[in-house]
Amino acid sequence: MSASERIVVMPHRSITATDVPHLRRCVDIAADALAAGDEPFGSLLVGPDGPVLFEDRNRVSGGDRTRHPEFAIARWAVEHLTPAERAESVVYTSGEHCAMCSAAHAWAGLGTIVYASGTDQLMQWLTDWGVDPGPVAPLRIGEVAPHIETAGPVDDLADEVRALHARLHGIRL
Ligand SMILES: [Zn+2]
Repeated sequence: MSASERIVVMPHRSITATDVPHLRRCVDIAADALAAGDEPFGSLLVGPDGPVLFEDRNRVSGGDRTRHPEFAIARWAVEHLTPAERAESVVYTSGEHCAMCSAAHAWAGLGTIVYASGTDQLMQWLTDWGVDPGPVAPLRIGEVAPHIETAGPVDDLADEVRALHARLHGIRL
């Protein structure tokens, strides 16, 4: 079976009123990352009872291109939460996880991922702008971690994320 023939079944739920403020915060963190010279990605972890337990932003400007916030969340969760707590936790993020972070999320046994903008959207923006998409295949979460429930994108927040990425690449919208 070729890659194009793979059938990906992603458990996908709708965005809820609870999700929106967390995604709003992720986009604000992404803006902070850009202002600090990093790439505009921000993420946070919400525990089983609803509190925000941990948040981080992209930190690749130092040269370590694995310093993605979703990867940091997976590591933090393994150190601080039980497997049961991880399974009930939700990760919010300004941009859908890359393949590395989807794998880390799944290995950590975390729960749902909610994203403001999707990988397909980011790839379309980069294509439109003639920007190199980088060295990692742009796989959807469901292609890497097929049992993880996802939700997203959210149109108006995705527009804000697009504007941040445009600024990163010096594109005038
Ligand atoms: Zn990543």
